[in-house]
Amino acid sequence: MSALLQSSAAELGRAMASGQVSSREVTQAHLDRIHAVDGDVRAFLHVDAERALAAADAVDARRAAGAELGPLAGVPIAIKDIFCMTGAPTTVGSRILEGWQPPYNATVTQRVLDAGLVVLGKTNLDEFAMGSSTENSGYFTTHNPWDRDRIPGGSGGGSAAALAAFEAPLALGTDTGGSIRQPASVTGTVGVKPTYGGTSRYGVVAMASSLDQPGPCGRTVLDTALLHQVIAGWDPMDSTSINAPVPDVVGAARRADVSGLRLGVVRELGGEGYEPGVEQRFREAVDALAAAGAEIVEVSCPNFRYALGAYYLIMPSEVSSNLARFDAMRYGLRVGDDGSHSAEEVMALTRGAGFGAEVKRRIIIGTYALSSGYYDAYYGSAQKARTLIAGDFEAAFETCDALLSPSTPTTAFRIGERTDDPLAMYAADLCTIPSNMAGNAAGSFPCGLADGLPVGLQVMAPVLADDRVYAVGAALERELAARWGGVLTDRLWARQNGGEQ
Ligand code: GLN
Repeated sequence: MSALLQSSAAELGRAMASGQVSSREVTQAHLDRIHAVDGDVRAFLHVDAERALAAADAVDARRAAGAELGPLAGVPIAIKDIFCMTGAPTTVGSRILEGWQPPYNATVTQRVLDAGLVVLGKTNLDEFAMGSSTENSGYFTTHNPWDRDRIPGGSGGGSAAALAAFEAPLALGTDTGGSIRQPASVTGTVGVKPTYGGTSRYGVVAMASSLDQPGPCGRTVLDTALLHQVIAGWDPMDSTSINAPVPDVVGAARRADVSGLRLGVVRELGGEGYEPGVEQRFREAVDALAAAGAEIVEVSCPNFRYALGAYYLIMPSEVSSNLARFDAMRYGLRVGDDGSHSAEEVMALTRGAGFGAEVKRRIIIGTYALSSGYYDAYYGSAQKARTLIAGDFEAAFETCDALLSPSTPTTAFRIGERTDDPLAMYAADLCTIPSNMAGNAAGSFPCGLADGLPVGLQVMAPVLADDRVYAVGAALERELAARWGGVLTDRLWARQNGGEQ
């Protein structure tokens, strides 16, 4: 049983294809694991064991009948509770959607189901994906499996914690400012934000539509690439979806070849505010990539310093517009519907009761930034900064194949440490936000421990060069696995299970 939990998704897929194990056995092992540890980790908002086992049996039956199945058929997956999926609640971590069941599947959900993956359940997140710690969830806080007093990152902390706790070998996330990469970084797992338009947003509850991007999460680079391949590609239901071939992410992950690649270390993403342990692990990882044959140079992206400020104008502006649809009439919660209140009062009462403090803060900031008389000064300026940031990337990619930085300035902070300080919370995404602003591909990869807590290295590649993110991540994984005797989370398993194999 522990061997099934420790296996990568790629290994599980192969073992099922060769008949060594059934999807039912693999799925049951993960459901048992969730039962054993999720009371402490709290990664899942919703688990449906019956549905998962029925899906596993269906894959086993198709396999027995000789059907051609993909490499991840029968492999369990955890889905961030922002992706619509029929037959289960989609709450987006908000009380305003408690109990709501979507009438259709997100395109990404549908592709996962069509590929025969077995959905274990929906994972916890900050309300409407706004946060860096899952402490803004309307339900409960998820704990970091490396240290349960610490945050698992956010907003997709549930998906990352489920991976690190060996509750699922694969998970889905969305990344608007770092919500895939920052949780990956602080849990020692892998997470990739594809090129904007590379994966469909159809059926993903919208936070900030010009920044949101669904993406894959895993414990190994190859697993993450295999999931990327399943979910990516053109979708006519998403008007911003790119109609172009999906980059060969799986081939790149398998080759893990960085020889001849020129990698630029971004000067502005380091220094003051960065933990020394983070910078040290990052420098060692860069050295490992050099040893693997990459050429390392330093690059400057001076406009990245505007990224956080511009993001916290553009994102709330889009939030204030997107969240207007939660009007007490169409979805979920309705408060004050007793005949004594007007429709406007019911809306106000419902939004007052159903939204948490951070969501309200952002709606108010966004409404202000877009209001007449302030629009040019705030939203307009932020859009100009966004153009400058994209220009920095363009200039850097003229001389570099990909860029490198730490994924986050610090390791996982303590639960409660930043809840009273929104600016400190927002700073968790200093390194990740520029790629959302410019729309390019980026991923976070484990590069070691600082004071016993995981550190991540970020790889940023040009638009539609997602394969380079995987090539660099896989080369780093190979170099470090040689030193560690496996991937980083294997050490966590050993720590939790006293070295049991
Ligand atoms: N932490 C960032 C925020 O709070 C990013 C969130 C995200 O990527 N969904 O906005």
